[in-house]
Amino acid sequence: MGTQGTYSIAVLPGDGIGPEVTEQAVHVLQAIAQQYGHSFHFQYGLVGLAAIEAEGKAISDETLAVCQGSDAILFGAVGGAQPGAAVKPEEALFRLRKGLQFFANLRPVRPSPAMLDASSIKPEILQGVDLIVVRELTGGLYYGHLEPGVPGKPSEIRETPQGYEAIDTLLYTEAEIERIVRVAFDLARERRKKVTSVDKANVLSSSVLWRRVAERVSKDYPDVAFEHLLVDACAMHLIRRPASFDVIVTENLFGDILTDEASMLAGSMGMLPSASLGTRRTEHGIFGLYEPIHGSAPDIAGQNKANPIAAILTAAMLLRHSLGLKEEAATIEAAVEQCIQAGYRTEDLREEGKEILGTKEMGQRIAERV
Ligand code: ATP
Ligand code: MG
Repeated sequence: MGTQGTYSIAVLPGDGIGPEVTEQAVHVLQAIAQQYGHSFHFQYGLVGLAAIEAEGKAISDETLAVCQGSDAILFGAVGGAQPGAAVKPEEALFRLRKGLQFFANLRPVRPSPAMLDASSIKPEILQGVDLIVVRELTGGLYYGHLEPGVPGKPSEIRETPQGYEAIDTLLYTEAEIERIVRVAFDLARERRKKVTSVDKANVLSSSVLWRRVAERVSKDYPDVAFEHLLVDACAMHLIRRPASFDVIVTENLFGDILTDEASMLAGSMGMLPSASLGTRRTEHGIFGLYEPIHGSAPDIAGQNKANPIAAILTAAMLLRHSLGLKEEAATIEAAVEQCIQAGYRTEDLREEGKEILGTKEMGQRIAERV
């Protein structure tokens, strides 16, 4: 058992199934606290639609300040506004990511060995899959730039005499590429020591620079195997030979698409956690924002149907990266695996002969095993 500590965690449950799954993640963290003698101080804040309705903003400055003062942020999900609403719940995420400079989004994909036979993908292809996608989160097409003096906006739809046209700009600086590639190499050192850098260097200038910088950074990590892959080829190989990947590093949009694809290797969106990290260190690790990769899922909200495993594994990532509690993180992951092995499933994982549990019941079983 490691040393006992006191930690502050900002909790932003948000909308839809966010509060339901976050509640279970908090229960599991409370079980860890009890088991290891830590004390976690949870500070709750409003975010998303819930915050818009109460405070007129997707996230208030006060809530942002609470987040800033914490060791880590546990986030549920936001969404579910009417199309065309004046304030979008998703703005909360953009403010958090951009404002707190969480530029590295980590998405591990490790299918449970107990679920391989139920997958629509052949078990022999899924065997041994244990990869992590490192997605750049604060640059690229999502945040267009134009050089000073160039007219127009970096991202807009505009009217011309010939009809409408639209523009988005994809800009990366050397420094932005270097810092994300370093995150990937540092992670690989603690894993199977392989980095795959994904780009579209046969078409995009930003990718040519990406490749050049990645190549240079790789020289500092002679102990880590390194390869480049075009994004289209990567999309194919993720389905054909997913077990061959260890760490995949890529720009914002490619990472968005590849991680949704990769989520199917794990069986359901309800299984996958994520961490968004920056450079700021806390007393115990790296300051971060932790959220399941799924959204608010309004279609199943309030029915005790959502799978809480993604949120619970997200809490494990929080312990590992921000609080430096590696053993405790592994304890949560083992408890999740035990429950799957015991035959417990949620609705999204429905499988012949398995026991279907609700959100609360699944969370409870996992917390008990912790
Ligand atoms: P958002 O706009 O917030 O992303 P969405 O409608 O796109 O909401 P997602 O959360 O992205 O919903 O989910 C897409 C689909 O996957 C939905 O049908 C949802 O029911 C299902 N899903 C997502 N998360 C879970 C979960 N934790 N457990 C079970 N099913 C889920
Ligand atoms: Mg969605």
